[in-house]
Amino acid sequence: MIEQKINKFFGDAESSGFGTGWWSGILSAFFGFLSFGAVLCLHFPQLLSTPDLRPHYPVHTLRVLIQCLIVAAIFFGVISSILRKKKTLALTGMLLAIAATALGGSSVQVNGSVHGGLAIGLDWFLLDLFLMALIYVPLERLWPQYPKQGTFRKDWTQDVVYFMSTHLPLQILSFLVLLPATQATKYFGVPVLQELIARMPWLLQFFLAVVVADIAEYFVHLALHKVPFLWRFHAVHHSSKALDWIAGSRSHFVDDTLVRGFILAPLMLGFSQTIILAYLIFVTLHATWTHCNFGPNAKWLEKFLVMPRYHHWHHTSQKESIDKNFAIHFPWIDKIFGTYYFPKEWPENYGLAGEEIAPDFLRQTIDPFIGRKRTP
Ligand SMILES: [Zn+2]
Ligand SMILES: [Zn+2]
Repeated sequence: MIEQKINKFFGDAESSGFGTGWWSGILSAFFGFLSFGAVLCLHFPQLLSTPDLRPHYPVHTLRVLIQCLIVAAIFFGVISSILRKKKTLALTGMLLAIAATALGGSSVQVNGSVHGGLAIGLDWFLLDLFLMALIYVPLERLWPQYPKQGTFRKDWTQDVVYFMSTHLPLQILSFLVLLPATQATKYFGVPVLQELIARMPWLLQFFLAVVVADIAEYFVHLALHKVPFLWRFHAVHHSSKALDWIAGSRSHFVDDTLVRGFILAPLMLGFSQTIILAYLIFVTLHATWTHCNFGPNAKWLEKFLVMPRYHHWHHTSQKESIDKNFAIHFPWIDKIFGTYYFPKEWPENYGLAGEEIAPDFLRQTIDPFIGRKRTP
């Protein structure tokens, strides 16, 4: 469906190795897309930018960044169109960059004052995609656990669609979960608890928040595995046959909303908005990190903090590790509840064991609601 169409439109049979114009084409299209989206955000901030983020933007720096993205999209587009026979990627990147420039580029003035309300959150999607790719793609290219897997493994376009689906409606989701959670600290907070926690050093407050969040996550994650109706939604996350940073975003929106809700509910009782916000940033980075195709491991650290190899064992289809390693931050939480499994090596197979789900985004989104099953 959507992802097959994307593949057909951009892909070809040529090699995607370095020097073939594939990487430069992808970079051109990626930077072109980012710059075009960013210019749209400048034009329609009320509709496209996340109200919570607006006051915190370093506008001047962002304008310089937009300018650099436009130049980079054209630069890589030219390189790719010289090196590669199929020029769709390069042309897409260059056209998007030209369109961004034609719309006023980085110098578009933001008119009038912008007030809250429902927004699509395109800014958050673009920023997160840019930062995540910037951090994790080089790490996975430099030190991969599975070098043959590559950045553009099978199904990667599907995971980009998932990334979009969980980011773009952020404001709608956050309207239900995130926003009230940070605001609701005022109403649901237990004053005695809030005072007690506020008196602790900042670092201790943060650590405590991560512990509370991970215990909450443990139980909602356990339920997602053990309750058959909930498993239908969570099975989508487990359907990846290979893991990397973007495979982590393959998640049904019901799964995502449930987990966020259950994590935020206990945090609201005693922690300040700042601590909750710091936790949200931490969990975004750490959860993505645990899915990475990243080989090196700090042995002394992996006992205390979930590293990629630990969460990879949660995603294996090997019998011995089914329904193990539910924690997302601290392995010792699984030890306490008896669901810890962590041998010395890496798993050999990933994905669902003895089950199959639809191959495309749309049906993966609908099927869990109506209980449609696919026979393996
Ligand atoms: Zn799971
Ligand atoms: Zn996962």
